[in-house]
Amino acid sequence: MSAQLFVVATPIGHLDDMTFRAIEVLKSVSIIAAEDTRQSAQLLKHHNISTPLTACHDHNESNKIDILIEKLKNGDSIALVSDAGTPLISDPGFKFVRAAQEHGIRVIPVPGACAAIAALSAVGLPSDRFSFEGFLPSKQSQRLLQLEKLKHETQTLIIYEAPHRILDSVKDMVSVFGADRPVGFAREITKTFETIKKMTLAELVIFIESDRNQQKGEIVLVVGGATEEKDLDQEKLDKLLLRLLEDLSVKAASQMAADLFNIKKKVAYQRALELTQKDD
Ligand code: SAM
Repeated sequence: MSAQLFVVATPIGHLDDMTFRAIEVLKSVSIIAAEDTRQSAQLLKHHNISTPLTACHDHNESNKIDILIEKLKNGDSIALVSDAGTPLISDPGFKFVRAAQEHGIRVIPVPGACAAIAALSAVGLPSDRFSFEGFLPSKQSQRLLQLEKLKHETQTLIIYEAPHRILDSVKDMVSVFGADRPVGFAREITKTFETIKKMTLAELVIFIESDRNQQKGEIVLVVGGATEEKDLDQEKLDKLLLRLLEDLSVKAASQMAADLFNIKKKVAYQRALELTQKDD
């Protein structure tokens, strides 16, 4: 059988959150490519896995890939792991997976823990449609710009945040999304001080400010999506509709505006009618 690259999810805290299959795969491969070999060594020890580890992280990924691809071509199967959770999800591995694929090597996912999905599954916000945003920019000006882009997004947003930035980020979210937007706060999932709460953004600021322990550890924020009418930028919508109505029917203009603003067709149609009547 030709060699395969297994992308193996590992725990996000609790070391027992490993699937039977993940353990079997890590035992069976020739080598485990890890983001941090010292971190993964603890996991391997806990599960009595003695497969050799090699470092494959953001800083050496490009050089290391060629060596690992050679090994795969020589028939050695490899498992890729990151420090926690699913590799490639705000973690290294993308270039390696792409290179393996380009060399015709079969890439096999071994699914398991992922902080984003664990948080979404427990905070009690809509999970039918969601957008994973990873980490927001660390510079405030860029973070505000990014939040502005997300302001009208109706899907639930999943955001990773570092503990030393959590307060500033949530305050920025209050200023862009509004104080009343619902938010799920998932901290230290599967660990001793696990905290899962749902409240408004304004309440979250108070919660984090009043208990400094909430500014420690690993955190996922799950932000409720925009409710169309409430967050609608009426001035911009009107401007667009008026321009579109110069060339299009009310139906076509409102259809296009609804798509662009991510709002219900009914809302755009009603507004287009009002605007045409105003003009009369
Ligand atoms: N690959 C990982 C995954 O599948 O979730 C994510 C790695 S990323 C470098 C680390 C971020 O994930 C943390 O800053 C935090 O936002 C989130 N995270 C990881 N473990 C977590 C946990 N146990 N509880 C809450 N958030 C966690």
